[in-house]
Amino acid sequence: MGGSPAPWHRQKEAPMDERELTHLRRCVELATEALEAGDEPFGSVLVDGAGTVRAEDRNRITDGDATRHPEFELARWAAENLTPQERQDATVYTSGEHCPMCSAAHAWVGLGRIVYVASAAQLTEWLSAWGRPQAPVRALSVQEVAPSVQVEGPVDALVPVVQALHRRLADRA
Ligand SMILES: [Zn+2]
Repeated sequence: MGGSPAPWHRQKEAPMDERELTHLRRCVELATEALEAGDEPFGSVLVDGAGTVRAEDRNRITDGDATRHPEFELARWAAENLTPQERQDATVYTSGEHCPMCSAAHAWVGLGRIVYVASAAQLTEWLSAWGRPQAPVRALSVQEVAPSVQVEGPVDALVPVVQALHRRLADRA
């Protein structure tokens, strides 16, 4: 018994600063844009070590390629456009925790910290409660796939907004 909790189970910590919340709100906006374009509601933003937004994307799977997750696109963008040091210093903000494919891509290209709004476990719970099918890939946490990546989330203040987007998708199905 005792010992500190696993690092990915964020306990009550200092509130997230306004700058980080702004990046996360942009992720939610991108997720909303994706939903409205017929895609699944996921959006992500890559911010460099100086705090500048360098790239952003949203889910784009309606063309039939289900690997087109924003976090995967950002990992590829980073590999092509950032030095190894810049990648390490970057933070990827995202509306939903990376899936195992995206966690692996993030780690393979050497990106730094991840901050997500809703966890993979939360999404799994919601889909199950709504009677919707689960993803074809097990909802492992980022830490289970890429233990060296620093991760923060869920960000409680924005979880209801992300949940509402997924609810809209579920209702559409
Ligand atoms: Zn993914």
